[in-house]
Amino acid sequence: MSLSARDAYQAIRSSGSELESLLEAAANLRDQFKGRTVTYSRKIFLPITNLCRDRCSYCTFRKDPTDPDAWTMSPTEIDDVLLRGAQQGCKEALMCLGDKPEAAFPQYRKTLTELGHRTTAEYVARACEMAIERGFLPHTNAGVLSLDEMKLLRPLNASLGLMLENVSARLSERGMPHFSAPDKLPSLRLRMIRGAGELSIAFTTGILIGIGETLEERVDSLIAIRQLHEQYGHIQEVIIQNFRAKPGTRMESFAEPDSFDVARTVATARLVLGGRMNIQVPPNLNARDHTLLLRAGINDWGGISPVTRDYVNPEAAWPHVDKLAETCRQAGFTLRERLATYDEFLDRPGFLPPRLRAVAAARQNEIVQGAL
Ligand code: SF4
Repeated sequence: MSLSARDAYQAIRSSGSELESLLEAAANLRDQFKGRTVTYSRKIFLPITNLCRDRCSYCTFRKDPTDPDAWTMSPTEIDDVLLRGAQQGCKEALMCLGDKPEAAFPQYRKTLTELGHRTTAEYVARACEMAIERGFLPHTNAGVLSLDEMKLLRPLNASLGLMLENVSARLSERGMPHFSAPDKLPSLRLRMIRGAGELSIAFTTGILIGIGETLEERVDSLIAIRQLHEQYGHIQEVIIQNFRAKPGTRMESFAEPDSFDVARTVATARLVLGGRMNIQVPPNLNARDHTLLLRAGINDWGGISPVTRDYVNPEAAWPHVDKLAETCRQAGFTLRERLATYDEFLDRPGFLPPRLRAVAAARQNEIVQGAL
């Protein structure tokens, strides 16, 4: 049985020997359902545009059109990355971009018109088409999408994603990190995650920790995700992402969560979400703690790219897959590649779009051949 809110509030406050017991309980639950296999997805990162109408206090990715390093990728640039990724055996095309730039920037609306599109979602759909033609499985994280936008992208995506970040509306108050970010209102994000469930879309979400939330608010966020998953069964993975203080942001001097704070949150997430849930921590944001995080109950490292950097965290290089595999091996785990759709959603009726079935089968076959 999954942990109650009350027990989870207590668990996430663990330290000392209690923390050791918490990690052990989480690891045992993971072992029971996932065994000693940890997965990752070999991907390319396509930051279609870094224009964003929001201004989260910790973000260095977003730009205004007047910034010298603002960009919107052209179809040629997109195809160039696709080609390089295909040559390196990448299988997931992550479309990751700012939120609703067309609502804020007339210059960008002009760019879209020149590209032959009215909305960002339309342009992303075109990029997804290009990716599929090159043999990729697209996974789009384009911020808060409407139901119609999800319907447009659904047939072209192996999965969609949106971090819940946190369920607390307090973080949108004046002085808090989401004050100038209308798309970070939890009610909007919960609505999109629910909409994805109604559309049977395999969905990636997660929480961002260390941005001023309380430990109880982390638990409340995990429980909100659990409730949506209980209703629709569509959450394929939950990411526990730790805040990193970036120079030049309003939160540059804010303390980052330490290793044990990340570990106790991961372990609590495992107990709240249960043994079947895929729980992921970005390996590049926790470079010194891979073994600790395996002990805390994760079973996935997310996307790793041999071709493109992490544009959201450009200071944090991806680990080399061979080195990560060796760390896993020494901790008693096998590292295995997976697709952008988790195995359990590949054959589940109504989830993997028909257009992607042949691509998924071919890429899965390559993984199996590579592992032999
Ligand atoms: S975190 Fe996302 S939504 Fe917030 S400013 Fe950056 S790109 Fe925009």
